[in-house]
This record gives sequence, structure tokens and C-alpha cells, in this order.
Amino acid sequence: MLKTAQTFITRAAKELGWSDADIEAFLKPDHEHEFEVSDGEKAYKAYRVQHDNRRGPYKGGVRYHAEVSKSEVQALATLMTIKNAAAGLGFGGGKGGVAVNPKELDDARLEELTRDYVRQLVDYIGPDVDVPAPDVNTNAQVIDWMVDEYEKITGDSSKASFTGKSVGQGGSEGREAATGYGGADVLSEVLKQYGDDKKDMTYAIQGVGNVGTNFMFREEELLPQVLLVAAADSSGGLSSGFGLAASDLADYRKQHKKFRDYQSDDTIHITNEQLLCEEVDVLVLAALGGVINKDNMEHVRAKYILELANGPVTLEAHDYLTEKGVIIIPDILANAGGVTASLLEWQQNKADEHWEEDVVLEKVEQYLRNAVDEVTSVGERHKVCLKEAAFLTGLMRLEKVKGDR
Ligand code: NAD
Repeated sequence: MLKTAQTFITRAAKELGWSDADIEAFLKPDHEHEFEVSDGEKAYKAYRVQHDNRRGPYKGGVRYHAEVSKSEVQALATLMTIKNAAAGLGFGGGKGGVAVNPKELDDARLEELTRDYVRQLVDYIGPDVDVPAPDVNTNAQVIDWMVDEYEKITGDSSKASFTGKSVGQGGSEGREAATGYGGADVLSEVLKQYGDDKKDMTYAIQGVGNVGTNFMFREEELLPQVLLVAAADSSGGLSSGFGLAASDLADYRKQHKKFRDYQSDDTIHITNEQLLCEEVDVLVLAALGGVINKDNMEHVRAKYILELANGPVTLEAHDYLTEKGVIIIPDILANAGGVTASLLEWQQNKADEHWEEDVVLEKVEQYLRNAVDEVTSVGERHKVCLKEAAFLTGLMRLEKVKGDR
């Protein structure tokens, strides 16, 4: 994923006539904070990389994972700069992480580690400086601890210092649903741009978790003519020529049941690999990175691929499939609904307001439809695929803002 990001940044920058020195300067972050945090018993390596703030405060999640490294955090921070710019959001790019397996800690140690992370960074973050959010293995509870610690030290009670808070603690309605809902908004707008939005079509989805489930519900509303015919979780897949109902699958998953145990007369069981190669018009990837790769790219039969997970199509597979005419809707656009809702949460905190869910999701939709319009028109002008167009759009918006770099 990291190599892919750098390749796309370099391709887009070269298209814009940037020199190698310009590209190198862009890839270098503004600030890299590397420190240790303690859970009261043990110390861990921790990072916050602030890549670029020309368009607004640094913005990006904090992940807790044993394999977190500085180079990974740096690449993810760079991607956030591009994603926020491509989606037209007034945020820069940042990312943080702690090299810890949180599953090995009890709540008290997790809370202490989280509060220490804020204590170490307090001089470098804040509502107008850097606004962290949840990421892999961090959630609203972790962010609530962070906000509380930040408020204790600084006295700032706006709650705008972090996003992804629980709703009772200044979080936004609609934040949980926004990534999946936004993905359906993006797909609907892309199909419109390509003249396919009125056609009867089919789709398959890999990953029926938070993002996948919300995507399915919104898709049913927006694109009822695009029928869900296959779905997979980590246990395996289901396929039905008659169509699968989003509500049935969501209810089934809510009971913590696995698709491999699903029983219905109209449904057959398939493997995850078969799902990726189903004869459908749209393949939606909402589980993991790298699932379409050199081993299976030749068997993909979809016309559109929606990247809801981060980096589900490898660089090699992307170039192969694009060459064959497959339209890959890139992750930085397809899953930008989450960070768009974060922007709206931050705006609500700053204005001391609380908006209803439908207001938030309508605003997310508007941002994303505008972003798709801009990216597709940049793609047409430069005669490049949507992924390259999304990176180009981001870099062009960043170029417009004079920075002190
Ligand atoms: P989740 O844990 O709620 O759901 C993941 C789903 O993927 C589950 O249904 C799981 O069974 C399935 N899965 C796991 N391994 C699989 C496999 N090998 N084959 C098929 N299915 C498999 O996660 P989520 O929050 O829905 O996120 C999904 C993806 O979207 C992740 O890659 C995440 O990084 C990315 N993402 C999420 C957000 C967000 O706001 N949650 C934002 C941007 C990107």
C-alpha cells in the first residue's frame, strides 16, 4: 500500500511538471514526533507525523498495532494530505500510532497509555493545529479519554481537539455510517458520470462489517437497480441469482453468525476467491488491503471496482485491470465519507452545535458528489484513470495554496 501511494503521488506530480526535488520536498513531513508512552507498567514506541497543513489543521487517525512503524505512519500521513485535498476538505494530513497490541492490555492500562500519548503531544496538537481521530484498534472510548486528558491539561472544553468521540461526548451523529454511506454516494455519482446509473446491474461485496453493511443499506436506497448477488465475510461467501437482501445479511451478522453457516434455498456457498471473480458489474471491496493482486487479477470480471478498504487492489493489479478497461474507484475517494464526517464533527464542536444524522449525511453526500465531479473532470482533461485523477486533484488543490515549505 505504501509503495502504491508513493507511486501514484510521483505519477501525478510528474504529470503536473514537478521536479524530483519538488516531489522529495512534498513527501517530507512538516514534523515527525517520535516518543515513548507508558501504560504504567511498560513503555511503547509512539509517533505522530504531521505531513502538511496548507489546507487546514493536520488530520488523521491514531492506530494501536504491534507493527506500527515510523515509515508506515509517515506514508499514511502523506496519504491523508492527498485524500483531504482530493475530497475538498479544509484539513491537512497527519497520522499517529503506538506500537502496542491493545488486546494484551486491560482497560486501566489502555486508558493510561492513551492519556500519556496526549500528555506527550499536548504542545503540538489542538483544534486549530492537529485534530487526531480513531484508526485501526482505536475507537470512540479511546478518543473520549484523549479529549478528557487534553481538556484537563489545557482547559479547552470545545471538544474540537479530536474527532470520532462518542455522541454524548461531542461526537457527531452519522459518523459510524458515513464511510459506507459515502461509498454508495460515490458509486452512484461515478455511475452517473459514466452513463450507467439507470442500467440494471449486479454487484458483489467482500466484507460485511461496519463499512460494508452501511454501504449495502445506502446502495439499496440510491441504486435499487443494482442488485446484490454475492457477499462474503471472513468465513466465506454467499451467492444468489435472485438477489440478497442487505437487511437479512446485516441481521445475520448482528447475531455474530458466520456466512459459512447461512442457510437459504435460494443461496449457494462460494469461497472468498470465487466472490472476487464473480461475473458482476460492480465489485465492492470492504474488508482488507491487497485482495486483488497478481494471482487473481486475470480472473476479475467486474466492470467497476469500488475500493472501500484501504488499498484492496495492488499497484500491479490496478495497472493491469485499468489497461483492460476496468474502472477502479480509488480508496481515497471511495472511503472519504469517514473523514468528511470528521470535518463536520469538528465544525459542530467549533460552533457549539449538534446536527441531526440526516443533516450530517446529506452534507457528506454533497462533499463526495462534488469530489467525484472534480476528479472525473480532471481525469478527462488529463486522460488518466480515476486513481491518478484523484491524486492529481489533491496535488493541484495543494499547489494552489501558498505554503512556507
Ligand atoms: P470491520 O472489522 O467492521 O469489518 C470487516 C469485514 O471484513 C468483516 O465482515 C469481516 O468478516 C470481513 N473480512 C475480514 N477478513 C476477510 C477476508 N479474508 N475475506 C472476506 N471478508 C473478510 O471493519 P470496517 O470498519 O467495516 O472496515 C472495513 C475496511 O474499510 C478496513 O480495511 C478499514 O481499514 C477500511 N476503512 C474503514 C473506515 C471506517 O470508517 N470504519 C474508513 C476508511 C477505511
